[in-house]
Amino acid sequence: MNLTITKTTAPKTKPEIAALGFGRHFSDHMLVVDYETSAGWHDARIVPYAPFSLDPAAMVFHYAQEAFEGLKAYPTDDGSIQLFRPQENFKRFNKSCERLCMAKIDEDFALESLKELLRIDADWVPRGKGTSLYIRPFIIATDPFLGVRASQRYIYSVILSPVGAYYPEGLNPVKIIIEVEDVRAVRGGTGAAKIGGNYAGTIRAQVRAQEKGYTQVLWLDAVERKYIEEVGTMHMFFQIGNEIVTPSLDGTILEGITRDSVIHMLHAWGHTVIERKISIDELHEALQNGQLKEAFGTGTAAAISPVGQLSYQGVDYAVNAGKTGEIAAKLYDTLTGIQWGRIVDPYGWTIRV
Ligand SMILES: *Cc1c(COP(=O)(O)O)cnc(C)c1O
Repeated sequence: MNLTITKTTAPKTKPEIAALGFGRHFSDHMLVVDYETSAGWHDARIVPYAPFSLDPAAMVFHYAQEAFEGLKAYPTDDGSIQLFRPQENFKRFNKSCERLCMAKIDEDFALESLKELLRIDADWVPRGKGTSLYIRPFIIATDPFLGVRASQRYIYSVILSPVGAYYPEGLNPVKIIIEVEDVRAVRGGTGAAKIGGNYAGTIRAQVRAQEKGYTQVLWLDAVERKYIEEVGTMHMFFQIGNEIVTPSLDGTILEGITRDSVIHMLHAWGHTVIERKISIDELHEALQNGQLKEAFGTGTAAAISPVGQLSYQGVDYAVNAGKTGEIAAKLYDTLTGIQWGRIVDPYGWTIRV
């Protein structure tokens, strides 16, 4: 596909590193590609970052036919930029599209056009320690139609947001509350797809958790309210005794790329990692008898997020005395080392832009 480029004539002032935060600032350009059933994908273009003009009846506004991805461009010490397993993001993106009957993208074109966009906005990759350029590919249904069916028109777009260090003061354990009222996904539903529609219903529990002083909620399965699923935008790992366990992918949780990378690294280091169902009762018991040695989350935003406190049915339990565990710390150092190009990538996960 042909890609046209229109550069901005009014570059924006870049935010200070200290003011970055997450997802609040956007770069000078964006990628936009149109789709309609009769013509396929066409008019791929990199244009100045600007609002879309959409019909108020556009289907995405009413029935949430939308999918997205999240990955990062990492600045390296030698001044270049690298991506971490981006092909996995586009593969997953297409799985999400398939689940919602949306047009799939060409994964090679998605990667090539992303690289082009990154080259154009290369000076938007912040150069502070732990900072990165967050990449948000997404697809929306744009048919102006109020009947419920698959749209015949879509927009695929990629926007870029410079983000600050997730842990500006070093790795810091978070407090998690186990949600017992609301649920996130059921088997047969869309929990395994990365789509906006999965998120709106989770905000209530998140608000309640934050009001009580917790960072995020840990979801239980929707049927038995018994098995651990995932946390907000992270997958969970627990060290119970000498085993590291993580919930298996049974159709209600996303195939996390960080999750997969962590399983690979743990295996390479000789740990036993088991993907299986983990009941809240097992976790509760392990919390009480001291067998739960570490708990941590994995995801693109934070890489590794140690859990220092777990709250269940009104009781707070400290995990590893509220401190970052050894495994979480080693994973964090190695994974972020690979991502920012500070250490050799033995897995072939990174690519230079
Ligand atoms: C994106 C996301 C994650 C993290 O997945 P990574 O591929 O590791 O970034 C976890 N849970 C949900 C619900 C997500 O949307």
